[in-house]
Amino acid sequence: MFVSDHRREPAAEPGGTPSAGPDSARSGRTRIVARAEASILHADLDSFYASVEQRDDPRLRGRPVIVGGGVVLAASYEAKARGVRTPMNGARALRLCPDAVVVPPRMSAYAEASKAVFEVFRDTTPVVEGISIDEAFLDVGGLRRIAGEPVDIAHALRVAVREQVGLPISVGIARTKFLAKVASAVAKPDGLRLVPPEGELDFLHPLAVERLWGVGEVTAAKLRDRGITRIGQLAQHGEAGLRPILGPAAARHLFALSMARDPRRVETGRRRRSIGAQRALGRRSREPEEIEAYLHGLTDRLGRRLRDAGRVCRTVVLRMRFDDFSRVTRSHTMPEASDHTETILRAARVLLATAMPMIQERGLTLVGLALTNLDDADAVQLTLPLEPRATATLDATLDDLRRRFGSAAVTRAALITRGEGLSVPLLPD
Ligand SMILES: [Mg+2]
Repeated sequence: MFVSDHRREPAAEPGGTPSAGPDSARSGRTRIVARAEASILHADLDSFYASVEQRDDPRLRGRPVIVGGGVVLAASYEAKARGVRTPMNGARALRLCPDAVVVPPRMSAYAEASKAVFEVFRDTTPVVEGISIDEAFLDVGGLRRIAGEPVDIAHALRVAVREQVGLPISVGIARTKFLAKVASAVAKPDGLRLVPPEGELDFLHPLAVERLWGVGEVTAAKLRDRGITRIGQLAQHGEAGLRPILGPAAARHLFALSMARDPRRVETGRRRRSIGAQRALGRRSREPEEIEAYLHGLTDRLGRRLRDAGRVCRTVVLRMRFDDFSRVTRSHTMPEASDHTETILRAARVLLATAMPMIQERGLTLVGLALTNLDDADAVQLTLPLEPRATATLDATLDDLRRRFGSAAVTRAALITRGEGLSVPLLPD
């Protein structure tokens, strides 16, 4: 039986405390249970439905847009600036903003946009906790070695959502979910806000008490009666001082939040089932060779991530987005699980060749690749290839070079494939 010779040991995760839970005992992989660094992202699309409408109809851009008739389901920032809120009676909204363009909701368009945004989320980090159709928490702790600082990851995420889905998204970064969510709200519209661990109270205390989870109109009124309008004032009262105003449970909850304490972790409830990467191409038409070169680059990156994670895949998915923002995927399931770049590339090239007529007809604006049907490398007996692993050795060598000199150091401009055999890596042009 052949056993893979380039399996990775789990790397220590920076900024976190590795701990062996039941799952990690089985898989031999470390898990984060606590962290001291700001590495939780809260990503939230801005005025989601209204932004999709403005994206799809250029005449709506820069104008106040209201989605929904009887009740306002969403309002563009131009309408919000005039006092329109969700949910609000439609007639009242039009009195506030008579020149608003009212459009009916197109739920299928929003669902498709949401799916595309979540693909970007999952391409960013394996740990994504969806909150609603347009927002999620992402844990990027431990990705520093691969993807950089959390603030850089957040910046790249915003660019990717803008380029690949055409929508604005705001991101907050903090040590806790609560602070990350407040930070994204403060960053809106179309912004990024980092709350460093040493700056949490400075960030939080000047804000209105309504920013705290659990403070609605009734609680805010009770607090206002006591002269408490800012989170810092609430913190000064202490838990004991808040108890007669709010009752014991709310006092404990809100005092903890006012001191930036929120121990919840990002939870996905399951191990990652796929990894992906994509590349926006813009609207210029591309030669088939150029598209194939991008596909090679994506395959290269994903193969490396797969091997770094000690995992193998069976299914290769080609994702395409066309000029009209419609999206199509094509997939191929291989007879054996693999972590070889060359094997994955072969499947990806077949999918691309099959899709080429469609690409030429509809204009490709994004090409993506996802690897699914993932399994742990050590849970699968790798049966391919039994012969000396020329390509596996090549993969391992490239992985090692990148690890030592950084991922940009050995970027393959393209792979030149000789028949179906060995690939030759090229250094950048
Ligand atoms: Mg939102």
